[in-house]
Amino acid sequence: MTAHDVPSLTVVDAGTGALDGATGRYEKRLGDLEGVYSDAVAYRRLAAQEPDRLHYHVHEHRRRERPGDVIFGTSVVLPGTVGREFHLTRGHVHRLADRSEIYHCLSGRGVLLMERDGDLRAIELSPGAIAYVPGHWAHRSVNVGDDPLVTVFCYPADAGQDYAPIERRGGMARLVVRDEDAGWTLVDNPRYVREHA
Ligand code: MN
Repeated sequence: MTAHDVPSLTVVDAGTGALDGATGRYEKRLGDLEGVYSDAVAYRRLAAQEPDRLHYHVHEHRRRERPGDVIFGTSVVLPGTVGREFHLTRGHVHRLADRSEIYHCLSGRGVLLMERDGDLRAIELSPGAIAYVPGHWAHRSVNVGDDPLVTVFCYPADAGQDYAPIERRGGMARLVVRDEDAGWTLVDNPRYVREHA
C-alpha cells in the first residue's frame, strides 16, 4: 500500500475554503481573465486599476489520476462584478466529456451555470445545496452574493478539463447579471456564438 491507499480525513473551513493537507492550489486574478467577462470596456478599466485583484482560487486533493480515483477540493469565488456581470470562473467541459461532478455549497450565494448543446441551466447555490453536473455539460460558478462563494467539488480523477469550447463560443448563451429586485438575473450574451442548431 502507498499513502494514497490509506483512509484519511480532511477538514475544510466553510468560510474561507481552506483545506487541510491540500496537494495543490491555484488562483485567478483579474489580469488573468482577459476575454472571460462580456463587458470588455469595464474589464479593461478595472484591470488597469487592479490587475492583481483575486477573483477565485481553488484548493485540491489530487492524489492520483487513475480511473476509479476521485479529485476533491474547494472553489472560492470572491464577490464583485465586472460591468453588470457577477464574478465567475472560466468554466470548462471535462476532457473525458462523460465524466460528472458535484458541487456542494458551504457558504455564500451563487449560481452554477451549465450548458450543453445550446441548452442552458442555472442552479442556485446556497449553503447546503448540492448541484449535480452530469457529463457533457460545460459548467462555471458565479458568485451573486456579497461574501465569498465557497463550494466543495468532487469529480473522477481521469476527467480532466477543457477550457476551449467555452472560449470558442464567447462564453455561455446567457450572462448572470445584477438585478435590483431579484438580486440576479440572466440576460442574453451578445458575444455568444451558437454552434448548435
Ligand atoms: Mn469540472
